Amino acid sequence: MRYISTRDSARAVTSAAAIAMGLSMDGGLFVPQTVPVLPKGALAQLCEMDYRQRAVYVMKLFLEDYTAAELTDYTARAYGPRGFDTPRTAPVKRLDGNTCFLELWHGPTCAFKDMALQMLPHLLTAAMGKIGEKRKVCILVATSGDTGKAALEGFADVEGTKICVFYPRDGVSQIQKLQMTSQAGQNVLVCAVNGNFDDAQTTVKEIFSDPVMREELAGRGWMLSSANSINWGRLLPQIVYYISAYCDLLNEGEVKSGEKVNFCVPTGNFGDILAGFYAKKMGLPVGKLICASNRNNVLTDFIRTGVYDRNREFYTTVSPSMDILVSSNLERLLYDLSDRNDAETAGYMEALKTQGRYEVSDRIRSALDRLFAAGFCDDAETKDVIARVFRDHGYLIDTHTAVAYGVLEKYRRETGDGRTAVVVSTASPYKFCASVLEALGETPAGAGPELIGQLEKASGVPAPAPLKALLGRTARFRDSFDKSELADVVREFLR
Ligand SMILES: *Cc1c(COP(=O)(O)O)cnc(C)c1O
Repeated sequence: MRYISTRDSARAVTSAAAIAMGLSMDGGLFVPQTVPVLPKGALAQLCEMDYRQRAVYVMKLFLEDYTAAELTDYTARAYGPRGFDTPRTAPVKRLDGNTCFLELWHGPTCAFKDMALQMLPHLLTAAMGKIGEKRKVCILVATSGDTGKAALEGFADVEGTKICVFYPRDGVSQIQKLQMTSQAGQNVLVCAVNGNFDDAQTTVKEIFSDPVMREELAGRGWMLSSANSINWGRLLPQIVYYISAYCDLLNEGEVKSGEKVNFCVPTGNFGDILAGFYAKKMGLPVGKLICASNRNNVLTDFIRTGVYDRNREFYTTVSPSMDILVSSNLERLLYDLSDRNDAETAGYMEALKTQGRYEVSDRIRSALDRLFAAGFCDDAETKDVIARVFRDHGYLIDTHTAVAYGVLEKYRRETGDGRTAVVVSTASPYKFCASVLEALGETPAGAGPELIGQLEKASGVPAPAPLKALLGRTARFRDSFDKSELADVVREFLR
């Protein structure tokens, strides 16, 4: 199967090329030319498998130029006991009669980004070989927190790669900062940027698109690549856990074969929920995909009205990984819902760039209506949800997951749709100790990893080992830089 660009359907490349390139030359995103459908009986077969075998099965359907043996090797390394604290990898936990949580934070950095970023390095380094690319690859990441650490953990000491992460000096939580600055590995660099996330992100994009820089690095045997969710190699591993969750529900008798399930997803860049959309296209019995936002509710408005408008105030919230006004992966959805109309998709993206706004066709709007529902929670509601779920069920959730659960409750009230729903749980509550403690009515005593013990005491829920291990850890990387210095930092790093 080939991959085509959302802005030029005639541009078809192999899966290895799509993963190695990350972004298409025309600025579009790569999508599979046809989404494979699960063969008859596949779900029954998948029910008998463990998570890693399910991942091999599903990814193989999309990756012609990787062998099953290769994928088996990657999944063993990506989802093995070295990184994940449960052999189930992505366990489903039942809350009540018709609500479950899909826990995606059992990996090394305790956020769902691990599900993809533990896999991407294997797919990417193999892709380089498969397309005959001799250069080594340097991953550049601008992060608001979770992606940076997950990418570092995925690429640390991976042969033929280096990774350089830029984070806004004052824009990440103390735990997130220490997670990154204490990263081990010979091939890693972590830098604070004097500015906000947008400053870091814009500068990284400039470095990517600077032809002089590219030439200079190529001369020294390096190419630059990205680890964010525009890369198909990051999206694909996320399709697996929707299918795996459904199998677990079948195995546990929570649903009958063929019965539809709703998924409610805390959404930022639209990567996670888009993977759910592809799972549904593959034939998984999915009812509604419920898109949950925080106060930055540009997606709620979009799904409800068909108008995407980023011309609005940006809020900093207690669910920082969803503080985003431009969701890059929406482009893939628009392409699909416009019946693969590349000109129409490119038009929306151009309007977004020039006016910060676009309005989709009636055809797309009715498809959005059929497939999705949407809602949002502000910070007060989010904290109230954390407190209630803990009080009523003894189950502790993080701020992002709480947004999703709050939105699911509203959706059920508004529509009366009481179908079994899976809330996608994207981070360990211990990554956001201060907000979770406040939600439980505690006053945070201290900062960063010092709060882990306090939250353990207040909740009785044990913290994940990788976060506990941060206590007493010191930073390896302490430098901060102005935007104008970042290109030289990269040059020096690849010397
Ligand atoms: C990245 C992230 C999200 C948002 O996921 P998208 O794929 O960007 O929509 C939600 N929750 C957490 C904890 C995250 O790290």
